[in-house]
Amino acid sequence: MEMLRGIAGAPGLAAESAFFYKKNIGKTAVVSIDKAVEISLGRLEKLKEKAQNSLGDDEAKIFEAYKMLLEDEALISQIKSRIDNGEEPAAAAKAVTGRMSGILASKKNEYMRQRADDIRYVGKLLCDSLCGAGDGEDKPNKKVVLAAYELTPVDTMLFDLKNLAAIVTEAGGATSHTVILAKSLGIPAVTGIENIEKKIKTGDFVCVDGERGRAVVNPDNERRAEFDMRLEEEKTLVEKINSLKKSKAYLKSGEVFSVCANIGNPDDLVSLEDTVFNGVGLFRTEFLYSQTKKKPSFDNQAEAYKKVIDFCAPEYVTIRTIDVGGDKIIDYLNMKKEENPFLGSRGIRLCMDNPEIFIEQLCAVLYAARDEKVKILLPMITSLKELEWAKSLIETAKKRLKEKEMPYCENYLVGIMIETPACALCADIFAKRCDFFSVGTNDLVQYVTAADRGNGNVASVYNPYNLAVIRLINFAAKAAAENGIPISICGDLAANLDFTEIFVGMGIKSLSVPSPMIGRLKKRLGAISNAEAEKTLQKVLSMENEDEIEDFLKGGI
Ligand code: PEP
Ligand code: MG
Repeated sequence: MEMLRGIAGAPGLAAESAFFYKKNIGKTAVVSIDKAVEISLGRLEKLKEKAQNSLGDDEAKIFEAYKMLLEDEALISQIKSRIDNGEEPAAAAKAVTGRMSGILASKKNEYMRQRADDIRYVGKLLCDSLCGAGDGEDKPNKKVVLAAYELTPVDTMLFDLKNLAAIVTEAGGATSHTVILAKSLGIPAVTGIENIEKKIKTGDFVCVDGERGRAVVNPDNERRAEFDMRLEEEKTLVEKINSLKKSKAYLKSGEVFSVCANIGNPDDLVSLEDTVFNGVGLFRTEFLYSQTKKKPSFDNQAEAYKKVIDFCAPEYVTIRTIDVGGDKIIDYLNMKKEENPFLGSRGIRLCMDNPEIFIEQLCAVLYAARDEKVKILLPMITSLKELEWAKSLIETAKKRLKEKEMPYCENYLVGIMIETPACALCADIFAKRCDFFSVGTNDLVQYVTAADRGNGNVASVYNPYNLAVIRLINFAAKAAAENGIPISICGDLAANLDFTEIFVGMGIKSLSVPSPMIGRLKKRLGAISNAEAEKTLQKVLSMENEDEIEDFLKGGI
């Protein structure tokens, strides 16, 4: 038996024999480059149709994008010119696509970086076709846990999707194509398993827990029986989760708990239509700025905010002011190129350099909330100066609206994201000067562990189970309680059910998660009692090692 740790990709449990997918490609071309393009286009067309039928139009779009890349004359002519210069065709295809993908991968823009993967996948497909790799006639015809170093969408679609019980890979993070596909298929996925090729062989029996990012290879009888029991529970879980979506959240000990939603766009409200939730805990407003070529107008912004506020009333909507910088680059803001953008001008810092943009957003928020109430959430705060500056600009915004005789909201609260160590460590001081805290664990983990949240090389250092992270959140929660202000978590850790009990133990009474996690979170809360949660937190705080903490919080597999 071997227990494998990875990254939680898509939730769910599965236990089946493994099929290890390894491409068996020769290095020499057996067809011409033109023929290989033709074969690849034919394959993509078939895969597109298959994706359309089994997954829907949206998921099929990626194959159309690949076809367009293959039809790009510039790409193919670069490969041809290297072949004409005597290079082996497969090596030429690999070199050209590799170089293009490398250029895109170094871009700061997340969208461009994703295109880098697409070019790499297209390069692989072209090499397969050049070297005569088949469509994989050896694919299993029974349900399997599909294991591979990496799975491109093309690889995955070669399988009969009905036969995929789960996916486990080494490459690809929590937002990779593999994970997106697994989510749309509704099957569990775990990525980031180191040395997977040595750990899983075709025929091994593998239990996969996609929520916890774990897999057990050839479990002993006891572990197998335990897992089978969880599988049985999982079957009824889905029904239960769906029904829980429609009711309030309670702890086992009876207290009401607030479960809010994270959104990035008013369109996200559709997924909340038949859900009971306590308002929006995080509205990432950056999308308003990134989806257009120029700055959104006051009216556009106010309309978007009002739509969300009206939908959620009488609950609060927490509108986070523009948080660009880091990996979120907006061309028209003329952002300077920075060596370390995550340590550069982002969030509130960028607003301090562009006060007019900030004031306009505040005016739009206050105007949109004129008949309701609203929470204004400030990102990337590191010092009181920034909070005081932002509060003074809220006054300026109100004054401007008044001068224009426009109605505005008086019933607003001002809070800060706790996402830098500086802010967390001075939470006692901040708590006296703002109305609420919301913990941004994605950035907090990054800045506490000094590991870039998007850099795969340091993914194991970027570890939320690090005691320093837990201590800081606990410190902020205490500071909030002592000063009588509410604290919520809105980063990804709010949706990590390993942490729910210790958050309750810290006295946190509100969590904000993406809508698909609302039912699962309510279920987890229903199994937690306040008194036990406090004990669990004390136990974790007495541990010294992140692996010990992680194992304890995962309790079992
Ligand atoms: C966070 O940092 O946890 C957070 C919620 O903000 P974002 O992920 O948008 O940086
Ligand atoms: Mg953040």
